Amino acid sequence: MLRYDLHCHSTRSDGLLSPPDVVRRAAERGVDVVALTDHDELAGLAEAGEAAREAGIGFVQGSELSVTWRETTIHVLGLRIDGQNEALNEGLHAVRRGRDARARRIGESLAQAGIEDAYGGALAYVTSERLISRTHFARHLIDQGHARDMKDAFSRFLTPGKPGYVKHAWPTLAQAVGWIRGAGGQAVIAHPGRYKINGTDLRALVHEFSDLGGEGLEVVSPSHTNAQYDEFAALVRSCGLKASCGTDFHGPGESRFEFGDLPPLPAGAEPIWSGWQA
Ligand code: AMP
Ligand code: MN
Ligand code: MN
Ligand code: MN
Repeated sequence: MLRYDLHCHSTRSDGLLSPPDVVRRAAERGVDVVALTDHDELAGLAEAGEAAREAGIGFVQGSELSVTWRETTIHVLGLRIDGQNEALNEGLHAVRRGRDARARRIGESLAQAGIEDAYGGALAYVTSERLISRTHFARHLIDQGHARDMKDAFSRFLTPGKPGYVKHAWPTLAQAVGWIRGAGGQAVIAHPGRYKINGTDLRALVHEFSDLGGEGLEVVSPSHTNAQYDEFAALVRSCGLKASCGTDFHGPGESRFEFGDLPPLPAGAEPIWSGWQA
């Protein structure tokens, strides 16, 4: 059985390794098919694909799109997208521009809490001038002694009700799924267990997503408990969707699962790759 890892990040968004290094690490650790899914970005796909060919593993062009659904930020993975698709590229370009304005507001919010020039501090952690994320703020806050680690940083700052949180309007679910499908890809809801929504809203989200042509749900993710693997596998089956899995790897020491450590999908959930040519 091939080992799939369909969610990870490089220096093109908020990861710590370059796209080729991400792919090489996945290959060394026994992954057979890897998808690079940088946040709102496609720029690393060509060099990652080249590295995958050299390493002799399968490669899937992906991206993780930020979406606002009923006031909640959710993430939608696009898998097997055409990285050259014009509408998708233009849409994501606008999303990244919106991130710049948001980051300045995050800096202002942290200044109100007595943390000066966090925007400048975060910029020092940015690895692609095209994209700034809360992760870059978190790394700066840790470096400055305001938080112990990533988890601590996001529990003290940058999240609803905490300093450094600013509301932001990401694209709608319909826009994101539309761009992904327009680029020939499959849309997958990332880490559903992470959203602060109740079961009724989650089912509403999944149904709306499915009606828009969304195809999958990330079932196995470090954001989920073992019980949630079974819960989301059942949800996938009842909604006629497919199951995906990914480490959401951001870098050595920053992820709960390393490449190659993903448990298998629960039995009975149809994998998102079931229709793919090997
Ligand atoms: P952004 O897209 O700028 O809103 O940043 C979201 C990113 O922040 C996620 O992709 C994660 O990499 C990181 N993140 C969010 N919440 C947490 C958390 N609780 N622990 C660790 N990383 C987090
Ligand atoms: Mn991230
Ligand atoms: Mn995510
Ligand atoms: Mn991710």
